[in-house]
Amino acid sequence: MIKTTLTYACRKCHSQDSRKNGKDAKSGKQKYHCKQCNSYGIVNPSPRYSQQDKQRALRVYQERASLRGVELALGISRKTLAAWVKKSP
Ligand SMILES: [Zn+2]
Repeated sequence: MIKTTLTYACRKCHSQDSRKNGKDAKSGKQKYHCKQCNSYGIVNPSPRYSQQDKQRALRVYQERASLRGVELALGISRKTLAAWVKKSP
């Protein structure tokens, strides 16, 4: 049998024991409430940084070759940056 009910994995604890919690007024996206860690979140939130931010961050990274340098200069988290660097050729 095909499961048709959509379950949302919690972004914090990755539990799927969550329930819908209306729509986000700003983005119109589905919100959820996680029963495991009692947190509220949005399903597939919009990316925090634009494509432009990303390009600029990667350029700065190539110059400085330091995740921390870019983090300090542009205020982009090292985690995000590391993911971009990994994906870029
Ligand atoms: Zn959770």
